[in-house]
Amino acid sequence: MRNLEEIQRLDAEDPLAAFRDRFELPAGMIYLDGNSLGVMPKSAPAKMKDVVETQWGQHLITSWNRHDWIGLPRRLGGMIAGLIGAKPEEVVVADSTSINIFKALSAALQLNPDRSVILSESGNFPTNVYMMQGLSANSSGSIRHQIVPTGELETHFNDDVAALLITQAHYKTGYLHDMQAITKAAQEKGILVIWDLCHSAGALPIDLNACNADMAVGCGYKYLNGGPGAPAFIFVAERHQEKVMPVLSGWLGHAHPFDFSDQYEPAPGIDRFKCSSPSILGMSALECGLEIAVEADMTSVRMKSVALTELFIEQVEARLDGHGFELASPRDPAIRGSQVSFHHENGYPIMQALIDHGVIGDFRDPDILRFGFTPLYTSYEDVWRAAEILQDIMESGAWREARYSVRAAVT
Ligand SMILES: *Cc1c(COP(=O)(O)O)cnc(C)c1O
Repeated sequence: MRNLEEIQRLDAEDPLAAFRDRFELPAGMIYLDGNSLGVMPKSAPAKMKDVVETQWGQHLITSWNRHDWIGLPRRLGGMIAGLIGAKPEEVVVADSTSINIFKALSAALQLNPDRSVILSESGNFPTNVYMMQGLSANSSGSIRHQIVPTGELETHFNDDVAALLITQAHYKTGYLHDMQAITKAAQEKGILVIWDLCHSAGALPIDLNACNADMAVGCGYKYLNGGPGAPAFIFVAERHQEKVMPVLSGWLGHAHPFDFSDQYEPAPGIDRFKCSSPSILGMSALECGLEIAVEADMTSVRMKSVALTELFIEQVEARLDGHGFELASPRDPAIRGSQVSFHHENGYPIMQALIDHGVIGDFRDPDILRFGFTPLYTSYEDVWRAAEILQDIMESGAWREARYSVRAAVT
């Protein structure tokens, strides 16, 4: 097992080390939950003060033009495009991930009018399968959703399937799908592929267009550090955009919203995938996160992410042999996202004790302790110390205190 001095040397030599300073990291806290809610960029409070006090407070409605509020969805979309291998004309920031999943699924069904099945994997993030369920339940029987085990996905690629909705990095285990191979296999059967990038955008290099992806959605508040409930994004490949009549045909997806016409006419290109007035406060905070992300080289981010997750697994397994932890994430880093999960029968109280001792991860039913590693602000020393604190908690039995077993509303 490597010692602390070796670990500190890794931090000293880390090419991404300077990014850490751009984030507000509370003293005495080791934050390993950036896969659920990213840390606040230090630029956010001043930016929000300006947007609230000056743009909203003083300039009011003139800010739509004066501060180009109206252009924010595309401006931010263009920044995200660079992170996910898309053209700026293919990404827009709008609404939430769940809503964008609905838009993408309904668009795929239109693009594949002779097919009626939408397919996903069991154990996918709940909102993904719930959105599918809602769509099919309201289709008078014309759409069927099918949820199958991951290993069986390909056996269900057939002429009935209009769209495959698949999450690149699994939220619970971090299992990383092969985007290129799955997209190709599905498209060979005429299936459109919608990638959910919630746990991968900002954490690893993504090349949607090199994979010929059809559509994608993703989250602003995880690895993009956009703040709680930050707006999400949607990617639609240029070749599909003009063929879609949006089901969520909101006025800001209109070709000429300020004509206030009675007749909906979809805007050209990606703009038709906007729906409502953009949340300017949310988007302004997201811009702070994106300004940092676009400066980072995603290949370096991925290299450090692999090194951090490898280190955590090594440390936990070496320090806690015999304590009942079982790796829930893939051992092969090539198929692991930027997180490490362990099964433990007492996962909930152990995680509560960890949080109380300054190590923030989270718990996912039934028995998963989940730790996210965000290379732009997680240091090697953080990882080393988190494992050390976990060891203390297990060896002292501190996690057995009754208060750690009381369930909170959000786990
Ligand atoms: C976080 C996450 C979401 C979040 O959806 P919201 O609409 O923002 O609540 C959706 N899908 C996946 C795979 C996620 O990880």
